[in-house]
Amino acid sequence: MRNKTFAIIKPDAVKNKYTGKIYDRILDAGFEILAAKKVHMTLEQAEGFYSVHTGKPFFAELTEFMSSGPCMVLALKKENAVDAWRETIGATNPSDATDGTIRKDYATSLGQNAVHGSDSHENAILEIGFFFSQAELIQTQ
Ligand code: UDP
Ligand code: MG
Repeated sequence: MRNKTFAIIKPDAVKNKYTGKIYDRILDAGFEILAAKKVHMTLEQAEGFYSVHTGKPFFAELTEFMSSGPCMVLALKKENAVDAWRETIGATNPSDATDGTIRKDYATSLGQNAVHGSDSHENAILEIGFFFSQAELIQTQ
């Protein structure tokens, strides 16, 4: 079943006290939360999580930001979860995000854009496994 995705409420949104509002968006959009916890990544962890972006011009800024403060990491369940969550969060650049999306309403900038969403089912499984053990995940089909 391709019904899981991985989300992060990024350090800007946690700092701006949007965690509760974003949890409401998650639940209102019909996602089940399979696991959630607060983490403060080291720079090395952020570099590992975003290793696909190694070498890109924004890599240093991105990994420094993602390790600059605590964030919430979540495993989410919904039918067609990857696409459904990306639709809920909106475009990477909040100035391109459509009305009613999380990034439109809560992002600070292109870099500090409030939330992360997996870009494929395969990456969702890898990203969930990066942060959660089997014992931490609600078991579901
Ligand atoms: N990012 C950035 N500048 C860019 C592109 C991306 O700072 O030109 C940051 C932004 O925080 C984004 C993250 O790097 O969310 C990962 O980029 P990606 O293209 O994977 O966007 P996403 O999948 O998060 O929408
Ligand atoms: Mg991405």
